[in-house]
Amino acid sequence: MQVFKKINAFDLDFFEDVVGKNFIYSDPEAISNYSKDETTDETLFSSPEVVIKPRTVEEIRKIMKYCYQNNIPVTPRGAGSGLSGGSIPIYGGVVLSFENMNKILEIDEKNMIVVVEPGVITNEINKKLKPYKLFYAGYPMSLETCQIGGNIAENAGGGKAVKYGVTSNYVRGIEFVTASGDLLCFGGKTHKDVSSYDIIHLIVGSEGTLGIVTKIFLKIIPLPKERTLLLAPFNDLSAALNLPTIIFCEMGLMPTSIEIMNRQSLQYAYELSKNSYPYPESPCHILVEIDDNYEESLYKLYTSIGKRMLKENALDVFVADNLLAIEEMWKIRRTIPEALFLFLPDAINEDISVPINRTKDLVDVIKDIGTKYNLVCPIYGHLGDGNLHVTLSPRDKDLWKDKIPKIIYELYKSVVTMGGCLSGEHGIGCKRKDYIPIFYSPEEISLLRKIKYVFDEKGILNPGKIFP
Ligand SMILES: Cc1cc2nc3c(=O)[nH]c(=O)nc-3n(C[C@H](O)[C@H](O)[C@H](O)COP(=O)(O)OP(=O)(O)OC[C@H]3O[C@@H](n4cnc5c(N)ncnc54)[C@H](O)[C@@H]3O)c2cc1C
Repeated sequence: MQVFKKINAFDLDFFEDVVGKNFIYSDPEAISNYSKDETTDETLFSSPEVVIKPRTVEEIRKIMKYCYQNNIPVTPRGAGSGLSGGSIPIYGGVVLSFENMNKILEIDEKNMIVVVEPGVITNEINKKLKPYKLFYAGYPMSLETCQIGGNIAENAGGGKAVKYGVTSNYVRGIEFVTASGDLLCFGGKTHKDVSSYDIIHLIVGSEGTLGIVTKIFLKIIPLPKERTLLLAPFNDLSAALNLPTIIFCEMGLMPTSIEIMNRQSLQYAYELSKNSYPYPESPCHILVEIDDNYEESLYKLYTSIGKRMLKENALDVFVADNLLAIEEMWKIRRTIPEALFLFLPDAINEDISVPINRTKDLVDVIKDIGTKYNLVCPIYGHLGDGNLHVTLSPRDKDLWKDKIPKIIYELYKSVVTMGGCLSGEHGIGCKRKDYIPIFYSPEEISLLRKIKYVFDEKGILNPGKIFP
């Protein structure tokens, strides 16, 4: 257990001198929201000693220099929508919140780059880009609440990852403040850069443990003119799980997303949204979104995918071909996480990623574990990426908390044999760090620790995360 200096009145005075008294909070009520994120396990919650909301890079540098000299832990925080406890200040200390660093600094359409501060709400980027007929494609499903800095730190992805990839595919440059307060910048507006080590992609996904991200250069692309969303209920889960292989390999097509929702996950979303998809009793529903620049080619694409889904025993195929209908269709899918948190508060929520042709094996393992431990198992997620969100909820709560580590261990042991990983998009944080040794050898963990040491030898940056 690391030991850090506790914050005293002298430290608070210093921080207040740096940012001004309106941008620093230490009374328990004002900081209580910063002791948690969207992770449901309350045993992980931990309060900061002070929350600071800097407005400039220079303020961040002064804070980091001071914390480095005085051995004070610093936890960067975006919007707190994380699902692995990444922004929870396990050791107290300072929480740095980027709410006031929320500017889109430049839209450089000629170079297809947008430059942003970390506190920009992700969806704002695309709202600003729309008049230019451009868009940023790496965003997650939580785009309306999360910040781009949080997306960088988690290497978030989801919305359109099948065709367009995740956050890291769009980061062309990154400016960050180190643990000791230096300001570094790698990359920028170039779309190709192989000069030296790829530090950009080391910082992306580092969960705030290697540096404080202060500026991001994102690649932007032309906004496709047309979109269509297909909804298909299936009677046979196995046939639905096989769809990505059919669409990619046999049909040679690349939709923007292929999502799966089993009946258990949808029933909670129906209850919360007071709305339902057609065929609510079928074992699962599939959403396939496609985009293109031309109406005729889009029509050809979605009719061929629709026909193929019917051939694979879809009960029906529903087409949403205008923005309003598309959003309506997505709404129920987007309600699922909130509904599960609400109706299954004791559940384990995991974020498993396996090779796309192994999702059926993963679902079989979940079914077996569900039967063995008497669990309800809603499953939904990004089928086209092999990334399923797995919820395991007890029917019988007796001794449930004691059983959780054993169940997760059993699940992850099977995931390893499928060539899968610990988290597809939500990260390790403090929630999953104890399971890292299931996936990495001691030598691999040792390399990860050495990298952390190079960036932050005192371990003050977001301590208590990633490493067991
Ligand atoms: C309903 C719902 C749906 C979701 N859907 C998706 C999805 O589709 N795909 C997906 O990937 N995730 C999803 N998430 C998870 C979450 O939204 C993402 O992980 C998101 O990237 C977190 O962003 P945030 O701004 O909330 O960051 P936070 O939760 O505040 O922090 C996340 C991590 O980023 C670090 N951090 C934040 N800002 C900085 C910075 N400037 N510099 C360095 N480190 C920083 C924090 O220390 C922490 O480790 C979903 C969450 C919810 C609640």
